[in-house]
Amino acid sequence: MDDEFQIPVSLPLDSDGFLRRECPSCEREFKWFSHAEDDENAELVAQYFCPLCGVAAGSDSWWTHAQLEYGFGSASGAIDQAVQDSLADAFKGIKGMKLEPNSSFSLDFETPAALVEPDDMVIVEPPCHPNEPVKVPEASAERAFCLICGAQFAA
Ligand SMILES: [Zn+2]
Ligand SMILES: [Zn+2]
Repeated sequence: MDDEFQIPVSLPLDSDGFLRRECPSCEREFKWFSHAEDDENAELVAQYFCPLCGVAAGSDSWWTHAQLEYGFGSASGAIDQAVQDSLADAFKGIKGMKLEPNSSFSLDFETPAALVEPDDMVIVEPPCHPNEPVKVPEASAERAFCLICGAQFAA
C-alpha cells in the first residue's frame, strides 16, 4: 500500500461541547473544550497539561481507550477494503489465479457502535486562560492545572 489514506472519525461531544480525554501520565479522564476550527479564541499549542496531575504531553496523546478502539474499528473497514484491492491487483497479473471477492483474506473487523458522551464532570475555568475551560471529576474540582500553561489554580 503506497497510498496514505485518511479516515475521518467523529467523536461525540457532551451537550456543553466538551470532548473526553485521558491523561497518558495519570490515566485519569477529564474533558477539554472542543473549539470550532475557525475559533479565534482557541489556543494553538503543541502540548497540553493534564488538569488533574499537571504533567504535559503532546496534543495528540490524549485519546481515551474507548476512542482508540472506536477509531481503529472505524478505520478497519477502509483498511480491509484497501488490503483486498491491493491483493486483487497483485493477483491480476498471474495466469490461472483468481481471487474471489470476500475471500478469507478479509481481516474481518467488527464495526464499532457509536460512542456516547454523558454529561458528567464539572466545569473549571483557569483564570490565566479563561478561554480554555476543562471538565474534571467533582472530587478533583477544587484544584486543577491549566491545560495550556500548566499553572495550578483553585476553582
Ligand atoms: Zn494526568
Ligand atoms: Zn493558563
